[in-house]
Amino acid sequence: MPGNVVRFIAGSTLVLTAACGGTTAAETGKPVVDAAFFPLQWLAEKVGGPDVTVEGLTKPGVEPHDLELTPQQVAGVAKASLVVYVKGVQPAVDEAVAQHAGDRGFDAATAVPTLEAVHSEEEEAHGHEEEVAYDPHLWLDPSRMATLATALGGRLAEADPAHGAAYKERAKQTAAALTTLDAEFAKGLETCASRTIVTAHTAFGYLANRYKLEQVGIGGIDPDAEPSPARLAEAARIAKEKKVTTIFTEELVSPKVAEVLASEVGAKTAVLNPLESPPQGGDYISGMTANLTELRTALGCQ
Ligand SMILES: [Zn+2]
Repeated sequence: MPGNVVRFIAGSTLVLTAACGGTTAAETGKPVVDAAFFPLQWLAEKVGGPDVTVEGLTKPGVEPHDLELTPQQVAGVAKASLVVYVKGVQPAVDEAVAQHAGDRGFDAATAVPTLEAVHSEEEEAHGHEEEVAYDPHLWLDPSRMATLATALGGRLAEADPAHGAAYKERAKQTAAALTTLDAEFAKGLETCASRTIVTAHTAFGYLANRYKLEQVGIGGIDPDAEPSPARLAEAARIAKEKKVTTIFTEELVSPKVAEVLASEVGAKTAVLNPLESPPQGGDYISGMTANLTELRTALGCQ
């Protein structure tokens, strides 16, 4: 993986610092980009290429909404050349950026148009404290990711003008690949028997908005929010009315609720990956392509 940095500590203990945070430009001779979680890390590696060291703040397999930062990671945020994050996903990262990164923070939500958050009744009833009024899951729209690639290229060129042309060229190539992916989604989801997706965690608002699908989230924007019996009953009613064949679940959230709902309405379950963590053996493009295949099957697309 590009961006992993291996160094020796006294006593020759080999330490992988990429996942722990705290690498500095002085150690690597390159700008260090801290990326909050998987899709941003992928984008930073694509656009930064060999000219940066990318550190992911969220380890693979960890649900990023719950992330706690180690003191070393907070120190890393304070020293990084750029911190790429989405305000509203991870309170710990938002706080570390506000306190320690200042204008070295790059909030992806400021680079693309955001959509208003749709909160479940449970989140509202619990007074779930929301930092932002928009839905933060903007990386699930490839066209917004393309815009983000270009914006990130511009920010890296500002931070490291000596490699400005290389950042901009890689940004252009990455944006082109994402635009191709966007066109594949538009075409693949153009003519479908159903346009309703029932999801475990309300992460697919941008994807639904972009490709004219209707998302019915069982849980909330925060996957830890347990749905109430009333919310489950409402989701079951909509699923039956819309003749939904598939209830979507995801790898990092317990499938129990989705399974209960699926058996109640006579549907099956399938995995739709919100890509908050890297897909097995794949990247953002392959993960999204797998999502498109799942959606086409579930929705009966031609
Ligand atoms: Zn999420």
